[in-house]
Amino acid sequence: MGRLVMKFGGTSVANVDRIRNVARHVKREVDAGHDVAVVVSAMSGKTNELVEWSRDASPMHDAREYDAVVASGEQVTSGLLAIALQAIGIQARSWQGWQIPIRTSDAHASARILEIDGSEIVKRFKDRKEVAVIAGFQGINPQTNRITTLGRGGSDTSAVAIAAAIHADRCDIYTDVDGVYTTDPRVVPKARRLDKIAFEDMLELASQGAKVLQVRSVELGMVHNMPVFVRSSFDKPEDIDPHGTPPGTLICSEEEIMESHVVTGIAFSKDEAQISVRQIEDKPGVAASIFGPLAEANINVDMIVQNVSEDGKTTDLTFTVPASDYNRARDTITASKSRIGYARLDSATDVAKVSVIGSGMRSHAGVAAQAFKALAARNINIRAITTSEIKFSVLIDAAYTELAVRTLHTLYGLDQV
Ligand code: ADP
Ligand code: ASP
Ligand code: MG
Repeated sequence: MGRLVMKFGGTSVANVDRIRNVARHVKREVDAGHDVAVVVSAMSGKTNELVEWSRDASPMHDAREYDAVVASGEQVTSGLLAIALQAIGIQARSWQGWQIPIRTSDAHASARILEIDGSEIVKRFKDRKEVAVIAGFQGINPQTNRITTLGRGGSDTSAVAIAAAIHADRCDIYTDVDGVYTTDPRVVPKARRLDKIAFEDMLELASQGAKVLQVRSVELGMVHNMPVFVRSSFDKPEDIDPHGTPPGTLICSEEEIMESHVVTGIAFSKDEAQISVRQIEDKPGVAASIFGPLAEANINVDMIVQNVSEDGKTTDLTFTVPASDYNRARDTITASKSRIGYARLDSATDVAKVSVIGSGMRSHAGVAAQAFKALAARNINIRAITTSEIKFSVLIDAAYTELAVRTLHTLYGLDQV
């Protein structure tokens, strides 16, 4: 007998029929003797609709009220799943974030989990064999008593945090794909499912745009050494042996992975914007005068390239920011124009970042050089490059994203044969 967290994403709870299907997955594990806490997302599309409604009500809406609105999707699915479980004879109770409580910071819309009191849930496992059905994505700030949300995709983080709090043996993430692939299988049909992937590699894949897991859920899994298993909710619940190994991907520590490839996977993100500050006087302190105000405005700068301007005397600084911060970033730079001293600001939003990830890169030279050559052969222009120990990224025109991902996927031998 063990203890499990089972998390179901939006498409897995898209309607009442799908929620009944989830209930049968949960029943299978309960019948096998496990203690089960379930974490659910809102029905697919619901959170987007709630976000839209908040924007429609006012583009400058209060962040606390935004969270009050967008957290509601998970309230519905947690209640519905508890009803569906009871209907098939499984003891179940729903829990909102504040009822547990899941205490978070007060950074509304991107709150961090500080602490979870899992004692009542564990007590009910023992006393009543009761399944806890927990609304993902939400928590409460203890100072203000207001509902908070954890950022888009945050139910993954709720699940891993709860798994750590109740000392679960494993956290199963049920989604609409049967595991983590070498790249998004919807874009590259030749992508291969990975049996195992190290936390470090998964962290990079998620950070660089593979939305199969929220970045913070992977961080938490790594910190608590919690095995996270990504699997499909679309397999027939009764066909699965609860003691067998179903198709899926285990995210675990690097030591548990026997065979390692130089490149593990490829991620991409179209949520980027490029800003070039042209013809800046090349003197000490210039970078600080640009990036200081951006940091103060809480804007994350990612890739940075500095090169000589057309006139051969001054310098150009090019960098990327998340597309959602693009307007603010432009305004911030423009407001500091006299302090920075530049001639022109150019920008582009139709850009994409393609990242190649693999902890094997630590011990292999020339991995990135191969990519530059392969992209050049396809006439794909590289606007900026960044590298770190286990990944490198290139910024390209968004129109070439799929071509670039497929080219690199083949180049590094990741295609399914
Ligand atoms: P959920 O609603 O269950 O949380 P998400 O839509 O957030 O599901 O995440 C699952 C999706 O992530 C898949 O449908 C897939 O298109 C996408 N995805 C992106 N990169 C990968 C990858 N490397 N492996 C698997 N899925 C990926
Ligand atoms: N419903 C939330 C979202 O769509 C959280 C989640 O699904 O993980 O972002
Ligand atoms: Mg998700």
